[in-house]
Amino acid sequence: MKSITIMIPAYNEAPVLDKLHDRLDNLAKTVTDYKLEFLFINDGSTDDTLSLIKQMAHKDRRISYINLSRNFGKEIAMAAGIDHVTSDALVIIDADLQDPPELIPNMIKLWEEGYDDVYAKRQSRDGETWFKKFTSKLYYLLLQKLTRVSIQKDTGDFRLLDKRVVEAIRQFRESQRNAKAIFSQVGFNKKEILYDRDPRVAGETKWSYPKLVDLAISGITSFTTAPLRIASVLGMTVSLVAFVYIIYLVIRPLFGVPTGDGYSSLMAVILFLGGVQLLSLGVIGEYIGRIFNETKQRPLYLIEEYHQAKHSK
Ligand code: UDP
Ligand code: MG
Repeated sequence: MKSITIMIPAYNEAPVLDKLHDRLDNLAKTVTDYKLEFLFINDGSTDDTLSLIKQMAHKDRRISYINLSRNFGKEIAMAAGIDHVTSDALVIIDADLQDPPELIPNMIKLWEEGYDDVYAKRQSRDGETWFKKFTSKLYYLLLQKLTRVSIQKDTGDFRLLDKRVVEAIRQFRESQRNAKAIFSQVGFNKKEILYDRDPRVAGETKWSYPKLVDLAISGITSFTTAPLRIASVLGMTVSLVAFVYIIYLVIRPLFGVPTGDGYSSLMAVILFLGGVQLLSLGVIGEYIGRIFNETKQRPLYLIEEYHQAKHSK
């Protein structure tokens, strides 16, 4: 009997866990030909998520869980899960039921047909603001511009991965992770299925924009590489302002404003080059920051507790 692990990264998902468990339980009734494991990754939740998972695991022998020592973010939480999967296939699904588990049998069917990475592509996304959709679109566009590897559009982390893809991903040990990029990088036999993304069942999205801004600001004061980014932004701003000023300097004499010899051209060059230099320094800084973070070779995550489903071994 082949085994399939369904992995659920969860950060403060207490309000949805009950419903999620019901849906997974229903799913299990339709996929009887496989040994299922539900692997919860508790990503340092501050609500009842962990105790609820423990309660569920107590009653349901198919449930495993990893409790991370703090909140590491979804990317790292997924990496932790991927390191612990022993099944023939892995399905990654959000805890908030935005990804309908009912799609999984379909994924399994395609997997059995020989596909290694069956990913769900969103046809629609209800319950999300136009701003979120817009920024997400922009993000994909930018990502694709930056890499030769083809990136799957409108695709999240909801997918089924064959064991060999899981093993491939396990070798990607970078600490600043982007799962979408990694899924694309590894290649293998990919297949898309379309679905309508549901709104969150309960609880709140963890990616609010104020939170992102807050994170950026607190990052500056701590020992992150964020100050380097300030250089880029500063450079960009100075370049822009300089550009506007240059235009002013150039057209000024046309209106009869007296200027000293060479003053305008001098200012123009100084300001523009200053901006470009700061910008370039910032860009270099971004990369040095990444090198700095990777050379520390810190563990990606720390596990406080790992509970393995009775039923899986
Ligand atoms: N998540 C996580 N760690 C985090 C943030 C989110 O494990 O630091 C999980 C979260 O519990 C959910 C999934 O990642 O299962 C997607 O998060 P969310 O629904 O907030 O993102 P969105 O769907 O709004 O993009
Ligand atoms: Mg969500």
